[in-house]
Amino acid sequence: MSPPAILVDLRSDTQTRPTPAMRQAMADAPVGDEQRGEDPSTNRLCEMVAEILGKDAAVFLPSGVMSNQIAMLVHCRAGDEILADELSHIVGSEGAGAAALAGAMIRPLQGVHGIYTADQVEQAIRPGKRNAPRTRLAVIEQTSNRGGGTIWPLDTVRSVSEKARQHGLALHMDGARLLNAVVASGVPAKDYAQYVDSTWLDLSKGLGGPIGSVLAGSAEFIEQAWIWKHRLGGAMRQSGILAAAGIYALEHHVDRLAQDHDNARLFAKRIAAIPGIVLDPSRVETNLVFFDVRGTGLTAAELAARLWQQGIGIGQEGKYRMRAVTHLDVDGAGIEQAAAAVAKLSAG
Ligand SMILES: *Cc1c(COP(=O)(O)O)cnc(C)c1O
Repeated sequence: MSPPAILVDLRSDTQTRPTPAMRQAMADAPVGDEQRGEDPSTNRLCEMVAEILGKDAAVFLPSGVMSNQIAMLVHCRAGDEILADELSHIVGSEGAGAAALAGAMIRPLQGVHGIYTADQVEQAIRPGKRNAPRTRLAVIEQTSNRGGGTIWPLDTVRSVSEKARQHGLALHMDGARLLNAVVASGVPAKDYAQYVDSTWLDLSKGLGGPIGSVLAGSAEFIEQAWIWKHRLGGAMRQSGILAAAGIYALEHHVDRLAQDHDNARLFAKRIAAIPGIVLDPSRVETNLVFFDVRGTGLTAAELAARLWQQGIGIGQEGKYRMRAVTHLDVDGAGIEQAAAAVAKLSAG
């Protein structure tokens, strides 16, 4: 449903439109047949991402969901168990793909703001008994989306990784917002990625591209991933048009994620000051801002609908919980405008 005119869309960082310069890069892209390994732009994008993540190889996929699904398909066989935080995207937002596609079961761990510990992994690992599932894979989400855009500290990633390896588990990192974590923490992507067997970057979230993700890992892992890419219909042809947008984004839209984080903090500060709204600004680590509107007398759905009528998009995440996400197409003025609209509507 379209609002009268969308002024500020904070529903997701997927709401960005390709910029004129990005569209130009797409138009100019050299292309070939991706399935045959002959698309120069896609090959270049994959090399760039493998380099950024310090992995042997990478493969271009249509979406982040497909990156997660293929990783689970490669790492697991039917009947395996996967450990993941209960708030994670693979638990709540991928159509139970682990079960439907890989035939694996996810055991949700109760982390703190989406982050669990090596101890929790240790406790969750099943004994190697005939009647127990085989615990095979652990998945971490950097940053944790529903955890509030929280950053997995490098030490936690390392200790979870050590525990996983000790017990023969593979470790996969959902990197939908890995670069947000990198920019906010100053820790290079490689440093996080060195502890995991597979990970990926999303081109269509904060990076501002229209489509795609790039999944990286060992040469052997990527070989296996390619088989699933074909099987699932994710092998493409002249995908260089899309890859060029990704290359452009990696060259121009990474450092600027810091602005999104500044805008998220600004928004959080304004929202936290509104009577009836509960938000702890110190919880805002990257570009996601969650808040509770119970005290305004409105549900999240009511407030979201009224905001939408004024051209402001803010997502509902529960009966009283809302989520605002900053990105490339929202500036400081937009943040002030959105916050002012929330303040006005909350006042009745
Ligand atoms: C958006 C998202 C995905 C899925 O990415 P798509 O490119 O939209 O398929 C996976 N994990 C997390 C944490 C996400 O936020």
